[in-house]
Amino acid sequence: MDRQKLEAQLAELPLYVYDFIDTKELVFSSRVRYICETECPMYNTNWACPPAVGTLEECRERVMRFSEGLVIATITEVSDIANIQETLDTRAPHEEITRQVLEMVRQQATETLVLSTESCTHCEHCTYPHAPCRFPQRMFPCVESHCILVTDLAEKRGIDFMAGGNIVTWFSLILYK
Ligand code: SF4
Repeated sequence: MDRQKLEAQLAELPLYVYDFIDTKELVFSSRVRYICETECPMYNTNWACPPAVGTLEECRERVMRFSEGLVIATITEVSDIANIQETLDTRAPHEEITRQVLEMVRQQATETLVLSTESCTHCEHCTYPHAPCRFPQRMFPCVESHCILVTDLAEKRGIDFMAGGNIVTWFSLILYK
């Protein structure tokens, strides 16, 4: 990966932060999966979430096939962070930026894996579990679906995860080889 070339392209995007990572830094935790299972209404409802993405071990194996990647984050200020709809509306622009970064990475990579935010909302009604995903190339499972402790990664990289106030922070991982 020609990082200099990629960084010149990334500088054109409204990213809060980006950093190159070694996947060995990632911490996988069954606690993250437990939260999916017990607290997330999207669990078992689409192809981008558990259990469809596989067990913790299957997710770890999928991720560790890549040795390096990029973590990116965007931030958006909302008028009231407690307003769930307003907060969730900031997700689409982040996903669009994730797609743009993916296209940049793909110019130099032979294979990529993207983990992004929340569950998939591409289709009004997900085909899960009766038929295959309609858009597997556009569907990005969320980072947490793969049991990755995002807070740990953010801390290691000095990224302010809880910017505070009415700031919404979204993260994505773009792994490549
Ligand atoms: S792209 Fe459509 S079918 Fe695939 S996971 Fe997303 S909502 Fe489901």
